[in-house]
Amino acid sequence: MPAKKATKKKAVKRGAKKRTAATAVKYIYDFGDKTDGNSKLRELLGGKGANLAEMARIGLPVPPGFTITTEVCTYFYDNGLKYPTTLEKELKASVAVIEKQLGKKLGAEKNPLLLSVRSGARESMPGMMDTILNLGLNDKTVKALAEESGNEAFAYDCYRRFIQMYGDVVMGVQAVNENDHCPFEAALEKLREEVGVKFDNQLTAENLKELIKRYKEIIKKRTKSAFPQDAYEQLWGSVGAVFKSWQNERAILYRQKYGIPAAWGTAVNVQAMVFGNMGEDCATGVAFTRDPANGEKVFYGEYLINAQGEDVVAGIRTPNPIAKLKEEMPNAHADLEAVRKKLEKHFKDMQDFEFTVQNNKLYMLQTRNGKRTGLAAVRIAVELVKEKLINQKTALLKIPADSISSLLVAVFDPAAEKKAKVLSTGLPAGPGAAAGKICFTAEKAEQVAASGGHAVLCRVETTPEDLRGMIAADGILTSRGGVSSHAALVARQMNKVCVCGASEVVIDYGAGTLTIGDTVLNEGDDISINGTSGDIYAGSVTTAPSEVNQVLSGKMKAKDSYTFQLFDQVMTWADKYRKLGVRTNADSPEQAANAVSFGAEGIGLCRTEHMFFEGDRITFMRQMILASDEKERRTALKKLLPFQRKDFTGLFKAMGGLPVTVRLLDPPLHEFLPHDESSKRELANSLGVDVDVISNRVHALHEANPMLGHRGCRLGISYPEITEMQARAIFEAAAACYKLKKPIKVVPEVMVPLVGFADELKNQVAVIHRVAAEVMEKKKVKFEYLVGTMIEVPRGALTADEIAETAQFFSFGTNDLTQTGLGMSRDDAGSFLGKYKELDIMPQNPFASIDAAGVGQLVEIGAAKGRKTNKGIKLGICGEHGGDPASINFFHQVGLNYVSCSPPRVPVARLAAAQAALK
Ligand code: PEP
Ligand code: MG
Repeated sequence: MPAKKATKKKAVKRGAKKRTAATAVKYIYDFGDKTDGNSKLRELLGGKGANLAEMARIGLPVPPGFTITTEVCTYFYDNGLKYPTTLEKELKASVAVIEKQLGKKLGAEKNPLLLSVRSGARESMPGMMDTILNLGLNDKTVKALAEESGNEAFAYDCYRRFIQMYGDVVMGVQAVNENDHCPFEAALEKLREEVGVKFDNQLTAENLKELIKRYKEIIKKRTKSAFPQDAYEQLWGSVGAVFKSWQNERAILYRQKYGIPAAWGTAVNVQAMVFGNMGEDCATGVAFTRDPANGEKVFYGEYLINAQGEDVVAGIRTPNPIAKLKEEMPNAHADLEAVRKKLEKHFKDMQDFEFTVQNNKLYMLQTRNGKRTGLAAVRIAVELVKEKLINQKTALLKIPADSISSLLVAVFDPAAEKKAKVLSTGLPAGPGAAAGKICFTAEKAEQVAASGGHAVLCRVETTPEDLRGMIAADGILTSRGGVSSHAALVARQMNKVCVCGASEVVIDYGAGTLTIGDTVLNEGDDISINGTSGDIYAGSVTTAPSEVNQVLSGKMKAKDSYTFQLFDQVMTWADKYRKLGVRTNADSPEQAANAVSFGAEGIGLCRTEHMFFEGDRITFMRQMILASDEKERRTALKKLLPFQRKDFTGLFKAMGGLPVTVRLLDPPLHEFLPHDESSKRELANSLGVDVDVISNRVHALHEANPMLGHRGCRLGISYPEITEMQARAIFEAAAACYKLKKPIKVVPEVMVPLVGFADELKNQVAVIHRVAAEVMEKKKVKFEYLVGTMIEVPRGALTADEIAETAQFFSFGTNDLTQTGLGMSRDDAGSFLGKYKELDIMPQNPFASIDAAGVGQLVEIGAAKGRKTNKGIKLGICGEHGGDPASINFFHQVGLNYVSCSPPRVPVARLAAAQAALK
């Protein structure tokens, strides 16, 4: 596939350092009694490997093992899937270290060492890559395990699991198509039926021996090879499979979504097995040091008695909450509590860890900074500061800037939710409210979302294959699996509303129904889920603003909302450290007021054209456009003037003296004209002209490339009376504010769009100054104002020194600057950007996140040149990038004065600006 080739090529380009024969390269790091690594070696050892080493270093009970570095992964892909020549020797030596520590031997018929082989990238990619457990078992060692454990069924269960995993992952025995069942699962189910048991753990040793025989036959039949008996062959096969899984489709998709470079590669962790499935004094579980859904400081997690780790995460058996372990295994629970405290104190963050209890003894298998919802991220960071584990700056850097917006997500309207009937309640796994159409497959969810609808992906359980659907859906509902199931983990990370493990929900994919008690819903029906409480409702429940919004709008008291207090705390800290100002793009008093409540410090962009679409204005606007000469045009403009003046007065009042940048008319005029026949006729009637007049004018105004045509300042230059009317409306509104009983000292900032030549700006500035003088004279008030320009075409950026001689401020219009700088239509790029992303040509959509290397240079040049001739010039940015954290970081580095973004992004921008300053 070209996608894979391209990613591999990139890995070569950006990948491993060149080594010479003289430099001895260490490819394997041990952990256990002998520990080579630590948590700082994340790039080399991956997150899992680095933290296993760290846990061993600080004395936590970690079964011994070793990590094969990410450099081996890079080498593997750069060298036709081959390993460095020295790797084999290192691997044997490291296996020997484990053997020595445990007094066991890999492949030995007495005391055999069994291993697990797991992936571990720098950033965790849950469930995306492959894992092999119980490695080292064969027809002989299984007997030894049976004898030593005194539990034959356990030993053969391990062996059948190993064959199944190895057959699937290494030998490629999988379902052939969607309708096919995994052949191993099918064989297991058949055997359960034959012997008449419901659960796997009811199978006897004899049953399992029979199953193993059938598994081996499946492998032989499908691969024409026998399942390997040699432990080292098994080990190399498993290590190779894990490295190869770095390039499987799921992992590639996940990396694309989270911007993880292919060049990083994964490490491979090989570790001595411990068993949670050896009997009733064994268990396995996943726990969080705090609640990852809401951030509360409670010990949170789940476990299964007599099970292997994969059983918990896969969601096949619904696990018990960790609190129950206190009753079932009090000693192990106490040990876990101690580990929980030590981990937080050491890592200074909420940890997500995996453990196994073997014969009442606790072992730690993994720890990492836990994935969490946006709400939890905020709460944990704030509370860690209160607990003096971290300081404010660290706390700010710990909260992904985007996650603050999840405190602003909709909740169900309390009255509507009260009225709705709760059909059932599952586990609340991703907070917020989602209502949408029931979709049983990822494809269906994608379809619904693509057509502008809302989807709730409903699955018995989700697997990594469902990732696309989870991205597309507004909410996710599963009937099986606990809070650490795949659905819950991924939803949390994506900030999706999620209810999981709703065991009363019966989903029948074949029939296309979702049944809860007597209620039968079909695919496409509406369903509503509350990811904060876990409640499920039929139909579409109305949503209401978040608590933060309710407090900000005065509907709720701050003291009654802890969520608001957290939000407010983070915003206060952010404002203390940020250097960038944050303004908003708003065209109405309501939007402006909303943005101010979120902390906007001014309006960075008011698009005046948005004001012309309401009510009667469009008619006057059309009259203006259809005018055959200046006189007629002025008559129409005169009618528009009062509307504009009123709008600007409203905006200035809503901003209460904060700066307001008003941009003069920007879009091509034909956008305001009717295009279909009936609206042309309607307009002709209302204007008392023949329909042909309208058609001819529409035709005359038609442009092949309107984005590059008669728009921006070109309009005001052709028709200065438009600029005149708009300037008059702005200044008269300002004058009116000065004359209010409680005067507002407005300093309007008039912005000229699409300037590429200094003389374009000079032309417009002359009109604006003239009108300002006229208004001051007529209204008998003196007010200040600024005139500036957008820098949104490359020539404007390149000649910014000349333009800055006239401009008092620049606002970078990065939407158009990206469009014109890349020569890529902002309206049509969707058709190829997906492919560009897949091929890693442009990993990010350049209209969402600034193309720093290209368009970014234009911003840098524009800023530097502007400051050269006008030292104090004010510099802002008002393209969509103003609300994107990565872009905000870039604008901070360039030294702009402010960013301007849509109202709901204002809190995100405040936090991102602080992070940029603290980085
Ligand atoms: C821009 O081009 O970045 C801009 C803010 O203007 P508009 O999106 O209105 O073209
Ligand atoms: Mg623009």
